[in-house]
Amino acid sequence: MTLLELDDVTVRYGEAVAVDGVSLAVAPRERVALIGPNGAGKTSLLNAACGLIRPASGRVRIEADDVTGATPGSIVRRGVSQVPEGRHVFGTLPVEANLLLGAYGRVFRLEIVSSTLRYLRSRRDVRDQLERVYDLLPKLRELRERPAGRTSGGEQQMVAIGRALMASPRLLAIDELSLGLAPRLVQSLAEFLVRLNEEEGVAILLVDQSASLAFSLCERAYVLETGRVTLEGASRDLVGRPEVRSAYLGGGPDAPS
Ligand code: ATP
Repeated sequence: MTLLELDDVTVRYGEAVAVDGVSLAVAPRERVALIGPNGAGKTSLLNAACGLIRPASGRVRIEADDVTGATPGSIVRRGVSQVPEGRHVFGTLPVEANLLLGAYGRVFRLEIVSSTLRYLRSRRDVRDQLERVYDLLPKLRELRERPAGRTSGGEQQMVAIGRALMASPRLLAIDELSLGLAPRLVQSLAEFLVRLNEEEGVAILLVDQSASLAFSLCERAYVLETGRVTLEGASRDLVGRPEVRSAYLGGGPDAPS
C-alpha cells in the first residue's frame, strides 16, 4: 500500500496557481526526491501534503485514508513529519526543548511553553523517544542544553530533523536539506538519512536545490516545473537524460551522475 499519495493536487494563492494538478506517491521505506527550479511549487506541494496548506482541489491520502484538509498535528500523528525549509528552530530555547516540542505536534502556544515542557518531560513515552533521537543523533545529546540559536547551521538542521523524529514518523518530508550548509555537513546528513531509511524504515520525501544530492540520495524522483510534474522515474534513468543534465546537473556529459 502507498504510504503517502497526492492525487491531482492543486494549490492556489488567490488567483495564482502554484501547484497544478500534481499526483505523487511515496511507498513505505521509499526515498523519493522532488526537484525543480525556484518557484516551481515544491514547498507548496510539501505543505499541502503536511496539512499546512489546504489544496484547492485534489486529495491527500496517508495509507489510503483521505487526510485532505486535516490539521498539521493530525498528519504528524498519522506518521508524516516535516523538516521545514529554513529549519525554524526556537533560537532562545535549548536544543532539548526544541526536540521535546516536536513530540507535541505543531500546535502549542509559546506563552505556555514552560508548562508544556514540564508536561512533556513528565511523560515516559516522550523521554524514551528523546533517548532514541539522542541515540540516532548523538551530537544533539552533547548540545542538549545549548540554546538552539547558538548552534551552527548544520547542528540546527540536525535539531530540525531530530524534532521531526520525536513524533516517530514513517515518512520524513524534508524541505531543502542542504541549503546554506557546507558540503561535508550535507554529506554526513545524507548518510544519516540513508541509515535512518534503511535501518529504521523511515521513508523520505526530499526537496533539494541540489539535484545531484537529491538523485544520489533517492531512488526515485519527480521533476516539478511551473506547478506541474514534467518528468518522473528512477533517479538513475533521470540523471542520464540530456534535458535533466542541462537544466539541473550543470551541463553536458561530464555532469555528475
Ligand atoms: P523555492 O525553491 O524558491 O522555495 P518552490 O519550488 O518551493 O520554490 P513554492 O515556494 O511552492 O516553490 O512557490 C510556488 C509559487 O507560489 C511561486 O510563484 C511563489 O511565489 C508562490 N507562493 C508561494 N507561497 C506563497 C504565498 N504564501 N502567497 C502567495 N504566493 C506564494
